[in-house]
Amino acid sequence: MRETSRRHTAKDKSIGFVPTMGALHDGHLSLIRRAKDENDIVAASVFVNPIQFGADEDFDRYPRDIEGDREKLEKSGADVLFIPEAKMIYTDGFSTHVHVDALSDKLCGAFRPGHFDGVATVVCKLFNIVRPTRAYFGQKDFQQTVVIRRITEDLNIGVDIVVCPTVREYDGLAMSSRNAYLSPEERKSAGAIYRALQAAAAILKSGSGTVSESVSAMKSVLSAEPLISEIQYSGIYDPLTLAEAVDAGKEKLIAAAVKIGRTRLIDNILV
Ligand code: AMP
Repeated sequence: MRETSRRHTAKDKSIGFVPTMGALHDGHLSLIRRAKDENDIVAASVFVNPIQFGADEDFDRYPRDIEGDREKLEKSGADVLFIPEAKMIYTDGFSTHVHVDALSDKLCGAFRPGHFDGVATVVCKLFNIVRPTRAYFGQKDFQQTVVIRRITEDLNIGVDIVVCPTVREYDGLAMSSRNAYLSPEERKSAGAIYRALQAAAAILKSGSGTVSESVSAMKSVLSAEPLISEIQYSGIYDPLTLAEAVDAGKEKLIAAAVKIGRTRLIDNILV
């Protein structure tokens, strides 16, 4: 990967990089296409990063489909596919981790301790290996984009971070590799997540509603869905600090994380 990257950079080619965990869907491919529009060369990685999963999470059963991924990437115009092995990324004696204060413990971080350290560490490693000009991330994982922007700035990484819109299914459900875990009934009820975000957005956008009315509207849509077994968080936040918002006005992040059966799903919109 290093050699390949060096070869292109020596010819003054820009490299757009799309890191993924594979089991690719149209959300991932939208990032590839955007990278293709904006760069000479597009590199994608597929790596299910063990250190960003908790002990009781789905690392072992995370969907894997390297042959399907390869085909989709080729069709979407990716030039380079990097598939490192965990033992090459985490060599014996590995002991350096990247931790982002404050942002890492909020929202998803409160329910997935250590998750964002795992993400920050692997993204730094991948950036150091691939040395891209730009890197592309989905808004779907909003907190991840905030953490990555932070490390890029704090550690002078010199990669432009591009955040791309969330690609959704017909009923608004954000595309996710984890949607494959859902039974047909669960899949139907998962549409409530986006409906809840929209209900909150409608109140905020109307100008007459408060933040707490908007949060209540979101919670009542989620609570009405019997297959949602747990609402981990659902609220309105400052998109820069991820702190809970108190007043309406200015840009807001509306975000939720729920469990449907064993499957944890997240989504967000900016208003
Ligand atoms: P993952 O394979 O889940 O780690 O995702 C790899 C990249 O694809 C991340 O930057 C995600 O935010 C992005 N992504 C995942 N789902 C979507 C989606 N539905 N729309 C846009 N980007 C997405």
